[in-house]
Amino acid sequence: MTEHDTALDGGPVSSAPRGRSRRAENTDFVCGHCQVLVPANTDGHYRNHCPFCLWSLHVDDKPGDRASDCRQLMQPVGLVEKSGKGWQVVHLCTACGHRQPNRLVVEGTAPDDVDLVAGLMADQQPPPATRGRGRRR
Ligand SMILES: [Zn+2]
Ligand SMILES: [Zn+2]
Repeated sequence: MTEHDTALDGGPVSSAPRGRSRRAENTDFVCGHCQVLVPANTDGHYRNHCPFCLWSLHVDDKPGDRASDCRQLMQPVGLVEKSGKGWQVVHLCTACGHRQPNRLVVEGTAPDDVDLVAGLMADQQPPPATRGRGRRR
């Protein structure tokens, strides 16, 4: 009963012109860290981390390939800015140390928790004057 679905009638989806189909990966899942059911993404990209705690699972060698057999929890440890892609959250595997940047989810049913993202950003870029004070990382 969603209205914008009618726009799909009889034509290609206008919003996904490039790249491989990631629809198959776009399913809901239960977060391995906070145990909350994470709804499937609705912004056209598949979701690979929990929007509520930002933790992920190590399932990819490269983003989206599901080629890793590690399957352990990945902790959000920082943010990186990629040209053309915007900000991405960096995940660090708690088991094998694999690092991987993942696109932030800012739209759809359950966007990433902005407070957590802001916290990562604060960790990432401490003001030069106060560097070394407060919590260390
Ligand atoms: Zn979670
Ligand atoms: Zn791993």
